[in-house]
Order: sequence, then C-alpha cells, then structure tokens
Amino acid sequence: MKIAILSRNKKLYSTRRLKEAGEAQGHQVDVIDTLHCYMDITSDRSVVRYKGKELPPYDAIIPRIGASISFYGTAVVRQFEMTGAFSVNESVAISRSRDKLRSMQLLSRKGIGLPRTGFANRPDNVKDLIKNVGGAPCVIKLLEGTQGIGVVLAETTKSAEAIVEAFMGLNADILIQEFIKEAGGADIRCFVVGDRVVAAMKRQGGEGEFRSNLHRGGSAVLVKLTPEERATAVSAANIMGLNVCGVDLLRAERGPVVMEVNSSPGLAGIEAATEKDVATMIFKFIEKKFIEKNANAKSN
Ligand code: ADP
Ligand code: GLU
Repeated sequence: MKIAILSRNKKLYSTRRLKEAGEAQGHQVDVIDTLHCYMDITSDRSVVRYKGKELPPYDAIIPRIGASISFYGTAVVRQFEMTGAFSVNESVAISRSRDKLRSMQLLSRKGIGLPRTGFANRPDNVKDLIKNVGGAPCVIKLLEGTQGIGVVLAETTKSAEAIVEAFMGLNADILIQEFIKEAGGADIRCFVVGDRVVAAMKRQGGEGEFRSNLHRGGSAVLVKLTPEERATAVSAANIMGLNVCGVDLLRAERGPVVMEVNSSPGLAGIEAATEKDVATMIFKFIEKKFIEKNANAKSN
C-alpha cells in the first residue's frame, strides 16, 4: 500500500518508528510535512499539493497532528480523506478530541467515569464551582495546557479561589476537577488501536509530584489492566471516534476515570515501557481496514 505519515518532523521517534515499521511490512511510506500541504478547495477534483507538485493518491494516511496546528492540520487531513485516502483517525474525530470540554461532555453523556469537573467563565461562580467538585483539595487546569504545565493542585479552598481568580484574570479558560488522591501521583496510559488496548503503561510522578507526565520527571512501567479499565479505554476511544489514541485513566476508588483522550499519542514512552511493537500494530490495523474496504467495493 501507499501510505503517508503527516508529521511536522521526520526525525521524531514516533515518525521514524512508523516509517520503519510500515516499510518492514512492505508498504511505501512517505513522510509529508502537514504545514507544507496546500489545496485548491474549489477544484472539482480533490488533490493535495505539496512543494509545487500534486501528490499522488495515497491508500491511507497516518495523521500526527500536534495540538498547536490542530486547525490547519485537520483541514489537510480532510483534504486527504476527500482524495479517497483512509485516515487512521478521521479529521472530525481529531478536532473533537482537541476540545477538552466537548470531549468530557461526550464521554459523560455516554456514562464513562470521569473526575467530577466544573467549568465556568465568570468568577462570581467560583465558590460554588469549587464546592460542586467536592471542595479542596482540588485540581485546577488550564484548558490549553499540555505536558502537565498549567495543572495545579490547590490544597485549600482559599488557595483554590486565589488560583482560579488569577487564571481568570488572565482570561484563561480553566477546568476545576476533583482531586483523585488515591491515584497516588500515577496515571495509566492505554494505547488503543482499533477496538483493543494494545499496550498500557503506568506513569508515576517524581517524589512529591502529583503529576505523572514524563516531561515532568515521571517514570513509566508496564501495567496490567483490569477488564474494567480495558473496557473503559476502548469505549472512550469509540465514543470519540478515534481508531488510534492514548486514553489516560486515573485509578479512583470508584473505578477507572478518564482524564484525557489523545489523538496523536507518542510511541517512544509506550514502546520503551512495554517493549511492544505498537507501530507495527498500527499498520496491521490499516491493512485490515484496506482489505475490508476492497471486499466491500467488490460486493457492491
Ligand atoms: P496534561 O494534558 O497537561 O498532561 P493532565 O490533565 O493530563 O494534563 O494532568 C497532568 C497530570 O496530573 C496527570 O497525568 C495526572 O497524573 C495528574 N492529574 C491530573 N488531573 C488529576 C486529578 N483530577 N486528580 C489527580 N491527579 C490528576
Ligand atoms: N506526549 C506524550 C504522549 O502523548 C506524553 C508524554 C508525557 O506524559 O509527558 O504520549
């Protein structure tokens, strides 16, 4: 098959591993820089242009769209879809996952366990908002934060109020969340491919740190999931409409709660911690989809 990886940087571990794994499976794999793609959206024939030329049609694409280029990146993915390429994650599902609030509302509606979470725009609601998530200690998050930056633990109601007011004074959108203390500074990254969790790791924050992000000095080890955790991760991926994603869970007393669903999950941490060849599993999934599509085309 002819497969394109949409990535800003061909030197990134995830990009390199995907290219290598795809080629080992016998595919032609091109790395295409998302921001260098452009298109004539009014043309009667859907094509993607790249560095002065029309790109040949691809059977499938693997979008690796960073949060900072979500808007343009998802437009490029959509254009590839219009050329008939199968996208591992659909453009619309990537957009959906980039909106944390919308994602949580969707997951909540479908009965997925979540930390109690509040959101408001006006500071006159702060006290009630904090009370609603169970009071202090609670976690306050910048909606636009990544890698644990902008995630703060407020030990007391007074400090929670002060933090919320400070963020709101900066016109930042925030979430207030119940603190899942019993998670013990750890979270679980479930890597979902298709309708299976193919690898899972437990990330533990450094000494005295409640955030488990690897970028914040956390460490990761292989973890065995409970059937409930597996089912929760697969359902969350399904609800979001993502075929390949990282579902981050916290182990709460009442069961697994979903913190986030990441539509461009990194491969480095998960492959190192679990020694699993996640990249190849992604290609196996693409092959399966391709065979199904061809079989359907023949029977129609
Ligand atoms: P980011 O998207 O920036 O990584 P997260 O929302 O994933 O931010 O939070 C970073 C880390 O903080 C998580 O991996 C988890 O370890 C910890 N954390 C986040 N929210 C909670 C919570 N409600 N209760 C306990 N720990 C949390
Ligand atoms: N960017 C990594 C991922 O999405 C997360 C790294 C971290 O937890 O700090 O897999």
